Amino acid sequence: MPRIFVTRKIPEMGIQKLLDKGYEVDISPKSRPLSKKEIIKFLNKKSYDGVLSMLTDTIDKEVFEKVSSVKIFANYAVGFNNIDIEEARKRNIVVTNTPGGSTESVAEHTFALLLALTRRITEGDQFMYKGKFTGFDPMLLWGDEIGGKTLGIIGTGRIGGRVAEMAKKGFGMKIIYHDVVRNSQIENELGTVYMPTIEEVLKNADIVSLHVPLMPSTHHLMNRERLAMMKKSAYLINTSRGPVVDEIALAEVMRNGGIRGAGLDVFEFEPKIERSIRKLPNVVVSPHVASATPEARIDMAKMSADNLIDFFEGRKPRNKIN
Ligand code: NAD
Repeated sequence: MPRIFVTRKIPEMGIQKLLDKGYEVDISPKSRPLSKKEIIKFLNKKSYDGVLSMLTDTIDKEVFEKVSSVKIFANYAVGFNNIDIEEARKRNIVVTNTPGGSTESVAEHTFALLLALTRRITEGDQFMYKGKFTGFDPMLLWGDEIGGKTLGIIGTGRIGGRVAEMAKKGFGMKIIYHDVVRNSQIENELGTVYMPTIEEVLKNADIVSLHVPLMPSTHHLMNRERLAMMKKSAYLINTSRGPVVDEIALAEVMRNGGIRGAGLDVFEFEPKIERSIRKLPNVVVSPHVASATPEARIDMAKMSADNLIDFFEGRKPRNKIN
C-alpha cells in the first residue's frame, strides 16, 4: 500500500480519503511550515511513495536528489511556484495542484481587502477602540465608493475571472484587464475591456487587482516603474503571490504619495512583512488567508487526496501539472 507523508495538518476529509483506501498516512507533527532540511529528514525516515505538500515547502533539485522514493508531490494549493517543475519532469516525478478549489473564497477575499481599504474599516476599528469616537461627524473617515469605478485586473484566469464577474454584477464596476491570454468569455459576458499592455491597465484603473501565478515572468511584475504609473488615487490589491510585487518599491511609492492604498494577503518575504509597509496607515493586510474557508480548504484537501489516489490507482491525476 502507498505510503504518504503530509507536510502539515490539513482538513480531516482529505486524510480520510487516503485512509479509506488503506494507504499509510503520516502527518508532520510540527504546527508550522517545514524547512527544506526537515522535509528531507522526514521523507527519509520511511520510503514514502507520495507527498501531500504545502505552498510553504521548497521542493527542488536537492529534495528530489535526496529523497528518491517519492513519485508524486500533490501540492495543497493552486499555485505551485514552490516546486521545481522542470526538475520534477526530468525525473518523471508527478506534480499536481488544486485548481478551482479556492476560486470563490479568494475572489471574495479580494473584495474583503478592497472594501476594507476603500471604506477605511481598519482605521475606523482602531479609532473606535482607541476611544476617539465622540459621535457622528459628517466629515469623519471619508472613503471611496467602488460602484462605477474602473477595476483593472491583471490575470483573468479562474480567480481574476470570478473577481471580474463579482465586480460587474455586484458593484457595477467598469472592468479593464490584461492577461497573456485574451479572455473572450469575460469580454462577451461582462463587457470587460482588454488592454494589450499592463501599463494601459495601470494608467487607467482606479483599483488594480493581481491574479497571476508566480513564475519568473511575473516576479516583480509590479516593479517601481509600474507602481509609479498607477493613479495617485488608485488602490492595489494582491491576493496572488507576494513576490509578484516589489514590496520595498511599493512602500517607497506609497510613502511618496504614489497610490492611495494597498490591500495585501501575500508578502514578498513571507511570513515577514516589509517594515516600511507596516508603518503605512493606508495598507490593509491579512496573513495569507484568502482561501481560508471550510468550503475552499476542505475542497483542496479532497482534491489533493484524489490526485494521489488517481496516481496510485494507475490513472492520470486529474490535476497533473507536468
Ligand atoms: P489561473 O491559472 O486560472 O489564472 C492565472 C492567469 O494569469 C491566467 O489566465 C494566465 O494566462 C495569467 N497570466 C500568466 N502570466 C501572466 C502575465 N505575465 N501577465 C498577465 N497575465 C498572466 O490561476 P487562478 O486559479 O486564477 O490562481 C491565480 C493565482 O492566485 C495562483 O497561481 C496563486 O498563486 C494565487 N492564489 C492565492 C491564494 C491565496 O491564498 N492568497 C489562493 C489561491 C490562489
